[in-house]
Amino acid sequence: MLSIQRNVALDTLNTMGFSATAEYFTRITEVAQLPLLCEYCKEHELELLLLGGGSNLVLGDSVFGMVAQIDLKGWETTRLDDDRSQLRIAAGENWHAAVDRMLEEGLFGLENLALIPGTVGAAPVQNIGAYGVELKDRLLEVEVYDRTQACFSSLSCSDCHFSYRDSVFKSIEAERYIITAVTFVLQHQFKPVLAYSGLHELTDKADLTARDVFDQVCSIRSSKLPDPKVLGNAGSFFKNPIVSAEQLQQLKQHFPDLVAYPDQGQFKLAAGWMIDRCGWKGKREGQMGVYERQALVLYNAGGGTRAQLEVLMTKIQRSVQQRFGVWLEPEPRFYPAVHTACHLT
Ligand code: FAD
Ligand code: NAP
Repeated sequence: MLSIQRNVALDTLNTMGFSATAEYFTRITEVAQLPLLCEYCKEHELELLLLGGGSNLVLGDSVFGMVAQIDLKGWETTRLDDDRSQLRIAAGENWHAAVDRMLEEGLFGLENLALIPGTVGAAPVQNIGAYGVELKDRLLEVEVYDRTQACFSSLSCSDCHFSYRDSVFKSIEAERYIITAVTFVLQHQFKPVLAYSGLHELTDKADLTARDVFDQVCSIRSSKLPDPKVLGNAGSFFKNPIVSAEQLQQLKQHFPDLVAYPDQGQFKLAAGWMIDRCGWKGKREGQMGVYERQALVLYNAGGGTRAQLEVLMTKIQRSVQQRFGVWLEPEPRFYPAVHTACHLT
């Protein structure tokens, strides 16, 4: 059975804190509801927006069509051998609580991804990553309801086409799959990943545990990032642009202190650094602003609107392009879709 409501406020269901209304709204608590949901949308010609924790999207005042909040729950561990276990988690579970529970159960490998808001089901959508670990590094398969074939199925890690903050679910076939569960392979023996500054300092700590890393990640994040419950935001607003070695060399001639990291034969530029150098850090325009402790985060001081956000976003994109010659792509997804501003030549 589906319980469908009309004209539902989404204000508390998106971490940007924008005021928005869903034309139709339903909550999915059982996988058997998914075929019914898709049939209903087809019959009534409704677009479908899948909602997890609303921490990586930007909503307009009205979201036409159906908004379905995925609230599937479940947790299942299978021991593979002495070293590894397989962990299947339903899509509606909270991500941070799941990472916490993994450590409680002695399952290691995702501790660097502590305190990322949102649900387990949304995590593969942009291949969440932080502090040198990406979801894809520990993922076995993603269970889905396939809207094109009208059937349940599963995708292996390679089927998901994961890349930097991207996957088949975000770009290649963005509307095709509803994620119902995610399965990871985790280690019983803790192997720390400490390359990022802030974690690197833990290298010499005696008897280092995964819980130490988890706590350190939580502590750094809490000191640098605004809590969406206090200040509306969607985390990093722009992706770090990837450039060739040649482009980097040219940029370095003009900006010797440009922050860049090698990335699979190319180079990743720190977008926050460039935004800061363009003078945006701490700036406020109306109710929207650039966070003073991390220029990659755009925030809603209260009562801000998507229109104001788009103005600020475009100004930042243009100034970074004018100064550095690179265009910043937003990381969150926009509903309804944004009319992308023209790149300056
Ligand atoms: P939502 O915002 O609800 O949805 C995001 C997208 O996924 C939408 O397109 C939605 O339609 C789709 N979707 C949701 N559920 C499903 C499903 N079951 N099946 C198919 N599609 C679905 N991200 C990082 O990668 N690393 C970080 O370190 C990080 N830090 C953050 C810090 C803060 C303070 C905030 C606010 C955000 C941060 N994010 C980060 C972004 C965000 O938390 C993640 O992308 C998270 O996975 C989004 O989960 P969600 O449930 O809130 O997704
Ligand atoms: P930071 O440590 O100040 O670093 C700035 C940027 O440089 C980051 O974007 C990071 O890229 C890159 N970087 C830093 N050290 C690196 C290393 N050793 N190797 C490769 N790249 C390196 O960043 P921060 O803002 O405090 O965030 C810390 C981590 O949390 C980052 O991984 C970031 O992605 C993640 N985070 C993500 C979001 C989001 O919404 N997506 C929000 C907050 C934090 P990467 O981003 O590729 O890691």
